[in-house]
Parts: sequence; C-alpha cells; structure tokens
Amino acid sequence: MDCIFCKIVAGTIPAKKVREDELILAFHDIEPKAPKHILVIPKKHLVSLADATAADEALLGRLLLTAGEIAREEGLGKGYRIVISTGPEGGQTVDHLHVHLLGGRQMHWPPG
Ligand code: AMP
Ligand code: ZN
Repeated sequence: MDCIFCKIVAGTIPAKKVREDELILAFHDIEPKAPKHILVIPKKHLVSLADATAADEALLGRLLLTAGEIAREEGLGKGYRIVISTGPEGGQTVDHLHVHLLGGRQMHWPPG
C-alpha cells in the first residue's frame, strides 16, 4: 500500500520516533508548525476519523491519552493543541489517521 505513514510504521521510511507500542507510533513531524510538533498515529491503517467505527473506540482513546502523556513528557504544562485534520476540507494531506500535538508557542483561534 502506498501510504507514507504505513511505511514509517514498517520502518521503510525513517522517522524521529518519540514512542512506540503495539498499537501506536509517535514521531516528530517532518515540517514542524510549532517548537514541538509530534504526530501520534495508529499502526493500523485507518484513513481518517471519518472512517473510524465503534470497533475503533479503544484505539481512539489510546491515541488521545498517548498524546496527553507525550505532552506531559515534553514539558508542555502551559498547554498545547491537538488537531485531527479530516478529509479534504479539513486540510488532511496524509490519508492515515494522525493526531497532531502542537506546543511550545501561543496558539490562536480560529485556526487556518
Ligand atoms: P495533515 O496535513 O493534517 O494531513 O498532516 C500531515 C502531516 O504529516 C504534515 O504536518 C506533514 O508535515 C507530515 N508529514 C508528511 N510526511 C512526513 C514524514 N515522512 N515524516 C513526518 N511527518 C510527515
Ligand atoms: Zn497507512
């Protein structure tokens, strides 16, 4: 399958890994949009939140809990932002579900 994040999971494309377990992989975004910009993804190929079902409930919870744990480890006690781009109008450019963890600067609203 021609999915860049599946290739990172498989190890055929390198990534700066932050955390890995049997279900989840976290790594630094290649084009960081904040001083800390980490992506948390399920190892299983899931296109987006729009494709998730009730069977993915535990996995989705794990993604968010992991993002929160990493934020703590990375010293983002003053706050951070979680973004899940979904579909073309959501600005999703990689079709493998990923949670953006952005921190280390003041975030603004509305986002772009
Ligand atoms: P989105 O545009 O919300 O779908 O997010 C995709 C993110 O993946 C972008 O922030 C990209 O910079 C990032 N990205 C794309 N290719 C790689 C890669 N090989 N390693 C790490 N991050 C990547
Ligand atoms: Zn994939």
